[in-house]
Amino acid sequence: MDKHVYLFNEGNANMRDILGGKGANLAEMTNLGLPVPMGFTVSTKACNRYYEDNLTLSDEIKQQIELALNELEETSGKKLGDINNPLLLSVRSGARASMPGMMDTILNLGLNDQVTSSLASITNNERFANDSYRRFIQMYSDVVKGIPKSDFENIIDDVKKQKGITSDLDLDTSDLQVLIDRFKEVYKKYINEEFPQDPKEQLFSAIEAVFRSWNNDRAQVYRRLNNIPSSWGTAVNVQMMVFGNMGNNSGTGVAFTRNPATGEKGLFGEYLMNAQGEDVVAGIRTPKDISSLASDLPDCYNEFVKISELLEDHYSDMQDMEFTIENKKLYILQTRAGKRTAQAAIKIACDLVDSGKITKEEALLRIDAKSLDQLLHPVFDKEALANASKLASGLPASPGAASGSIVFSARDAKKASEDNQKVILVRLETTPEDIEGMVHAQGILTIRGGMTSHAAVVARGMGVCCVSGCEAIKIDEANKKIIINDKEYSEGDYISIDGNTGYVYEGEIKTVESTISGDFATVMSWADEIRTLNVKANADNSKDTQKAIELGASGIGLCRTEHMFFESDRILKIREMILAENDEAREKALDELYKFQKQDFKKMYEVLKELPLTVRYLDPPLHEFLPKKDEEIITLANAMNIDVNSLKTKINDLKEVNPMMGHRGCRLLISYPSIAIMQTKAIIEAAIEVTEEFNYLIEPEIMIPLVGDEQELAYISNIVKEEAEKIIKNHNSDMKYKIGTMIEVPKAALVAEDIAQHAEFFSFGTNDLTQMTFGFSRDDAAKFLEDYYEKNIFETDPFTTIDEKSVGMLVKLAVLKAKSVKENFEFGICGEHGGDPKSIEFFNELGLDYVSCSPYRVPIARLAAAQAAIKAKNNK
Ligand code: PEP
Ligand code: MG
Repeated sequence: MDKHVYLFNEGNANMRDILGGKGANLAEMTNLGLPVPMGFTVSTKACNRYYEDNLTLSDEIKQQIELALNELEETSGKKLGDINNPLLLSVRSGARASMPGMMDTILNLGLNDQVTSSLASITNNERFANDSYRRFIQMYSDVVKGIPKSDFENIIDDVKKQKGITSDLDLDTSDLQVLIDRFKEVYKKYINEEFPQDPKEQLFSAIEAVFRSWNNDRAQVYRRLNNIPSSWGTAVNVQMMVFGNMGNNSGTGVAFTRNPATGEKGLFGEYLMNAQGEDVVAGIRTPKDISSLASDLPDCYNEFVKISELLEDHYSDMQDMEFTIENKKLYILQTRAGKRTAQAAIKIACDLVDSGKITKEEALLRIDAKSLDQLLHPVFDKEALANASKLASGLPASPGAASGSIVFSARDAKKASEDNQKVILVRLETTPEDIEGMVHAQGILTIRGGMTSHAAVVARGMGVCCVSGCEAIKIDEANKKIIINDKEYSEGDYISIDGNTGYVYEGEIKTVESTISGDFATVMSWADEIRTLNVKANADNSKDTQKAIELGASGIGLCRTEHMFFESDRILKIREMILAENDEAREKALDELYKFQKQDFKKMYEVLKELPLTVRYLDPPLHEFLPKKDEEIITLANAMNIDVNSLKTKINDLKEVNPMMGHRGCRLLISYPSIAIMQTKAIIEAAIEVTEEFNYLIEPEIMIPLVGDEQELAYISNIVKEEAEKIIKNHNSDMKYKIGTMIEVPKAALVAEDIAQHAEFFSFGTNDLTQMTFGFSRDDAAKFLEDYYEKNIFETDPFTTIDEKSVGMLVKLAVLKAKSVKENFEFGICGEHGGDPKSIEFFNELGLDYVSCSPYRVPIARLAAAQAAIKAKNNK
């Protein structure tokens, strides 16, 4: 028989997987001899079993719960449901990873009409007994039966209004009795039954409800954002109640051993006298600062200070504790590693390493790599955010926080920025035309599009905050309006967006600049010492290249050359090239593009000095680059000196049904080899000129996109070589260069040994490789993936975190195949997954050479690569 239930004295801190974090720490504190109310934990395995058994608690689990309950009754001398000496319980969730506020809690379980009146006489405190009972009915109805909380809150407001009072504390015994009666009526109205009077029935139903809360909407979203698998399940902790609402010598509170925003050492927290747990977080009464407890109840305060120091020391980490004081007796109800900002995480890590409490490796593992984003972008001022009104939520596509007035076009964004106005560019989705507006906007909000949509990729590259795929917003671009929750917002109205959370707020919210402290640099240097995976950046101009290097990139792993033509005068040239009516017109357009490119490459080489630059040849998906609006078509027709209608016909002819699988990448180079010749000329000449001027040793890396067949690469690589050799010879140079390819079509991975014959490196374009392996359009998948998450079909976005079994397997296969035919081959990742910590762990396992990600993700990738190396070493 599996063991499903553990008394607190049977567990310890290492049993998180089975007892959940809360249960494991309650057990650990019990063993340390701290004042923890007795109890037991129903395991995470029991939760999984509950789901396997179609949402029923098996007899075996029920039996084990009853046995643990008997033990609890025996040791405490109290009994569940006993009128003379009743045992009351709290029932609380606790998963392996802490998920604050995501799941449910029930307090005061075991109360019924009779027990409440006997509790009143035993404690000689009728108000306390009634208060506890009304709270229990409220929580049980909400958590177990799903009755809306507002039904109960409205009744409380009503009673308070009738009495002319504002504080819950002014409700007297008879008011509370009125609440009990009216609450029971609400219960009966919804459930068609009386409120349950049998405490055992209450207990089993409460445990089941906590198991069910593992799958509520907010828990599911939290799990997805934090990569927590649904298979972990939650444990349930059943614990003897202690009462903070027993009068003015009782209270309850929460505290950290350090300031969670800065990491400074010292108690940081708050409490309420004469209250129960949920009052502190509910915000109905304003809690007091923990330091005042020193004067309210000095003995309890001193004991709490001592315990908090002991706990931080014992766990060698900042603790977040919950306590209750019942008639001047202190109890600890929970301790866990406290959630912290990136700034605090770094300070704490450095403090603990300095004091010899933990090693550098342990310190690095404790910092959430993703959270480093917070250190590099402005964030909303915490206080201002607390008062802000949230309107909607989308995908957190590019970090940062921004406020500004709404504009609906790139042109308006540009104009506003010339007038020094802050704007949020709101678009249905962005296209290359929007790029200038995107640069000038404080933030970008799109209604459509996923994490790898144009808006998301470009915004991340530029370090501009972006929320994408905010489907709750209706947009009327023609009339420059958006509608959120039936309210209209027009051009000029202020909104704020948070690219770290995906939330959209009304009005302006103050932002604060993030600072990079000395500790941050220290932590990064530890990471660099340990990691073996190189981190490069994706950048298409010298400014982003400079930023990438400042943030620690060891080169540029992907320069998307089509991105070099986003500016309005340049996009015209690329359109002329795409839509050219004959070779001569194409050559002419290409000649213009050549001039731009060569200058840009030279600037990038100057910034990079001798660091590598991988230039990816043109890969413009046609739907992103063809003009759509009439005015754009007219401008283009004038520039090309052709008739508007014939241009329209040509545009129509080029339109594709599946542009992402269309005439792009190497396919374009095969149709128009002059593109490859022009790009080779621009790169090789730029490299030679910079080498001559600065005496650098530069080895250009040329990368051909979207190859699926060795003949494609062979054809293009011959053209590139011929042109490169010619230039090198003409310059009397001995420059070396490399030709490699992207692996981003599943076929390429399957025939990688053939393709490798024509390449010196592979860079995996995991955006396209995911798109084509799943058959999910990168630009549209976000729309339906929401349904997948909701229905537990997918847990994570495959465009964010690599799907190891499919796309990951193709990467692995291609590496093995290439290695089987060539020794000195280099492998990298340049899709969005290159900046995702979980994916980086997988790439490290595969033994790849580098990941390349947007500049602002470079520090994240450096830390994640170090964490991956440490984990790999620990697992050996
Ligand atoms: C990719 O497909 O992963 C890639 C890096 O190329 P792009 O995003 O430009 O298609
Ligand atoms: Mg691609």
